[in-house]
Amino acid sequence: MRVKINVTGIVQGVGFRPFIYRIAVKHGLAGYVRNRGDAGVEIILEGTQTAIDSFLRDLKEQKPPQARIHNIIQTPLAGKNEYTQFTIFKSSSETEHSGSVVPPDSAICNECLNELRDPKDPRFDYFFITCVNCGPRFTIIERLPYDRENTTMREFPLCGFCQKEYEDPLNRRFHAQTVACPTCGPKAYLTTNTGEAVKCVDPVREAGKLLSEGSIVAVKGYGGFHIAASTSLEAPLVRLRESKSRRAKPFALMARSLQAAKSFAEVNQTEQELLTSLSRPIVLLNKNNKYNLSPLVAPDLHNVGVMLPYSAMHYMLFDRVDDLAFVMTSANPPNQPIVNDNNEALQILGGTVDYFLFHNRKIAQRCDDSVMRVHTDRNVFLRRSRGYAPAPIMLRQKAKRCVVALGGELNNTSCILNANKAFISQHIGDVENLETRSFLQEATNHLIHLTNTKVDTIACDLHPKFTTTNLARELAEQNGWELVQVQHHHAHVAALMAEHGVDEMVGMACDGYGYGADGSAWGGEVMLCTSGDAGFKRVGHLEEQPLLGGDVATRYPLRIAAGILNKDVDVSAWLLQNSNHLPHGETEANLILGQLKKSGAPQTTSLGRILDAAAAVIGVCYERTYEGEAAMKLESAAVNGKDALGLASVICGDVLDTSQLLLAIYINRDRLSKADLAYSAHAYLAKGLATLAVEKAEEHGVKAVGFTGGAAVNALLASMMREVVEAAGLRFLVHEAVPAGDGGVSFGQAVVGGFSRF
Ligand SMILES: [Zn+2]
Ligand SMILES: [Zn+2]
Ligand SMILES: [Zn+2]
Repeated sequence: MRVKINVTGIVQGVGFRPFIYRIAVKHGLAGYVRNRGDAGVEIILEGTQTAIDSFLRDLKEQKPPQARIHNIIQTPLAGKNEYTQFTIFKSSSETEHSGSVVPPDSAICNECLNELRDPKDPRFDYFFITCVNCGPRFTIIERLPYDRENTTMREFPLCGFCQKEYEDPLNRRFHAQTVACPTCGPKAYLTTNTGEAVKCVDPVREAGKLLSEGSIVAVKGYGGFHIAASTSLEAPLVRLRESKSRRAKPFALMARSLQAAKSFAEVNQTEQELLTSLSRPIVLLNKNNKYNLSPLVAPDLHNVGVMLPYSAMHYMLFDRVDDLAFVMTSANPPNQPIVNDNNEALQILGGTVDYFLFHNRKIAQRCDDSVMRVHTDRNVFLRRSRGYAPAPIMLRQKAKRCVVALGGELNNTSCILNANKAFISQHIGDVENLETRSFLQEATNHLIHLTNTKVDTIACDLHPKFTTTNLARELAEQNGWELVQVQHHHAHVAALMAEHGVDEMVGMACDGYGYGADGSAWGGEVMLCTSGDAGFKRVGHLEEQPLLGGDVATRYPLRIAAGILNKDVDVSAWLLQNSNHLPHGETEANLILGQLKKSGAPQTTSLGRILDAAAAVIGVCYERTYEGEAAMKLESAAVNGKDALGLASVICGDVLDTSQLLLAIYINRDRLSKADLAYSAHAYLAKGLATLAVEKAEEHGVKAVGFTGGAAVNALLASMMREVVEAAGLRFLVHEAVPAGDGGVSFGQAVVGGFSRF
């Protein structure tokens, strides 16, 4: 028997060929395996049918941990057997095909971890120990094919020992481009905040000790710098909050072990799997009743972002201390991309930290940590980056066009759509200035090159003034690409539909802000969408509410609350009473009261703004110092509450009334607990929107109702909506592979651009 087998997916740079070699030899097969230029592999097998069947079974069941198989195509070959043994051929130098796939970074594997701890191992205590199954990939690759000279490991020629392992097909480091040891690999070193060397034998463990004693240390990792600090001492956290001008935004933690994480947070089975997966994202965990880390870590929230160590260096940081966890926050100044260069780090972070733990390998691609949470047993991406990017989202059908989509403004990503693969970039951040604009541009170009995509269409938001819209216009003109502008919430719903391969959906797209088709501010939308159609129908939305003072109202939600309540009651006394929560006190309260008498404030249908307003009336948040703060605190406040208000949803035509909700909260604010009021607000909005969506789905004969947008990361809203939708016998869909928030917008834009008829 002779067969040719083509395997596509993530099969290069993940130890696939040595794995093929081992299973072929095990089953007594002859032939060869080689990498193809399109990032797939080609296998020729000669042997008995039984041996080939066993080979295929092992191929599927025992593949290397990082490998992902999209497709296996088997073709019988005619002719006589040609080979006497099985061989690994060198990479073919065929021209590259489009849509090639680069693996994401992976956490250290157990075998490497064991070697790290084995005094007899040549890589004992080596902070950058990796093998073909683990370590950085995306963050070190400058171009394809994935060979050492095309990565930032190029500057570290292999020593004799590493070279031998690199060339041995039966070794775990065969063709592992990150292979290195203390003799030949990157070195770690410690400096002061001005860059002066700190003499020590063991810089990594020394850094751990400094952290434990209260120093703030910038730690260079695979895809950027973390700022690390103690989680039990107040002083470093106070300093960190001051210097990062980050008053309340929660810091992510790295726990020393799963057991340590369980000592201060609840960890269910799904969360445990995520925490320990090779992607090692930050997982939002509910604090448990034994939580005793500093309140400054995640103030006023019921949950905290936790990740486990993902490189040998991280494990070593904890070796000489007994801290349960360290703060590990991405080292990006507000609105700036993550820092990736040693000199740049000294300049930008020198004022914030006491020490630097550097290493001397360059970072090819910046990549922040991914952030997820679990709704019962469903994974929800808040940020899809390290460990996931740039692995593609596989679509059911091939797109008609090759699209690059630039996303929106906040929490942005870009996306390349090539046939049935959508490559979403790493997290880019808020694209509001030149630095983030150029990071977006670099990251996107890099992805276009890595995937060898011949772009013909560029997609962006409908907002006429977004940095990304302007950039898309420029690029369209320069390159002769077709420009497609996609309404923000349409992109959210399109992303959800594409993720589930659904052709028709009534989607609830809820977030803080998106530029509406009529130019006004949207954010609580019910939309009827059909795939293959460039348009959408807005079939329902939240009541329009005034934003007194425009953008200032987004920061100080008392203003929104006053604007809403003013329709039914005189708020003067209440507002003056609460004027200490406004930056200019009574003067400002009086100014607002004056504004209430005039008309002409901008209007919004945003769900985020209603949650903000509710949070202010209930008294859980008066100032939004970070994106989503009021809504997050409101969800935290609702954790042990019940629907004490029990309001029935008031739907007038296609609009869910929100004024009566705010009024009811206002009237009962002293009678009911914060928990009950917060819970009631969620219940009213979730049930009201879901009822409206179900009505519209039934009216149009649509079977699927979805929930998307930044608000869809809210577990309480999602679960209450699910009940209503499923009770009506409809499918309720949420995001699982793509961020529900604006990190998923580029994907939705790409899908609209790639599949729609224009
Ligand atoms: Zn390994
Ligand atoms: Zn070596
Ligand atoms: Zn959005």
